[in-house]
Amino acid sequence: MTEKNEQHGTVTVGSATAEKGRLTYGEIGGVELADGTIVNMPVVLATGEQPGPTLYLGAAIHGDEICGVEAVHRLLDSLDLAAMAGTIIAVPVQNPLAMSGQHRLPQFLVGKSPMDQMPGDTWQCFPGDAGGNTLQRMAEKLWSVMITADVVVDVHTPTTGGRYQPYAFLPPASAGAAAVRAKELAQVFGPNYILDTDAGVYVLPGTPHVELAKRGIPAFGIEIGEGGRIEDEVADDAVAGLTNLLIHLGLLKGAQAPRPEPMLINRMTAVRTSRGGLLQTHHELGAQIKEGDVLATITDTHGRVVEKVVAPHDGPLMRTTTFATVAAGERVAQLAVPR
Ligand SMILES: [Zn+2]
Repeated sequence: MTEKNEQHGTVTVGSATAEKGRLTYGEIGGVELADGTIVNMPVVLATGEQPGPTLYLGAAIHGDEICGVEAVHRLLDSLDLAAMAGTIIAVPVQNPLAMSGQHRLPQFLVGKSPMDQMPGDTWQCFPGDAGGNTLQRMAEKLWSVMITADVVVDVHTPTTGGRYQPYAFLPPASAGAAAVRAKELAQVFGPNYILDTDAGVYVLPGTPHVELAKRGIPAFGIEIGEGGRIEDEVADDAVAGLTNLLIHLGLLKGAQAPRPEPMLINRMTAVRTSRGGLLQTHHELGAQIKEGDVLATITDTHGRVVEKVVAPHDGPLMRTTTFATVAAGERVAQLAVPR
């Protein structure tokens, strides 16, 4: 999907051809749906006047993670391309099939043919498969672009109904030098927390940052804001972190802005309710929770308080549920375990 024409010094990604000092727009060819519609992924090439490194910046690989899309748009708007060196390959919506339904997954496909469309989460389909299911084919097209970059950053938010403290997630240390470099770069981005672990969903094989690191490309993800919402402060904070990263990588010049000193965490505990009902939560994100603190109250449909959900251990409050109701077994919070 990415072609370098050495003779003319041009780079083409999908239908977008880079032009020095300009943003150019195009599509990465996607897949055909039953009605013949071709679903493409939007790509924007931001090309500096000078040569330099290539950063791949993606968002919305989960279709309801819209604030990441907004952050990518705002970053592109903010660039002084005349002063920039190198290229940003931005794919603001990596999963248009899911974004169309503003859902994490492309529900209509996964629901229609659950056997054929497993795995159903594009994020876990890397490096993709040109002969695989619809989502694996989309992943393969993204992968072919990602591997042309020097560094890859993937922007996420929680899924709809959740809100996070900003954190970065890394490839596992077993991925070697690229994982070490990813950690350094995540620190430059400056989220409040960095999840540095070798267990759990964020180090699963098949996720892009993990597969890229195995291939020697430093890659990390960031989690910001709330699923399904666009928020100015959240998007602007991500732009500030990404701008520092661009300066650090040499794409932009200037002084980096002060950012938080990230706390390293090695896992998060999902705190679940054992009763269903209306949910009230009691702490601000980032609060330092003590074991036994009441995190949430569950009220049944008759109006009776049926559960006080308490913290199983000390730790910062990383995620809170923003849905008004929960079923038994649903998450109400996540607590971090610092390293
Ligand atoms: Zn996500």
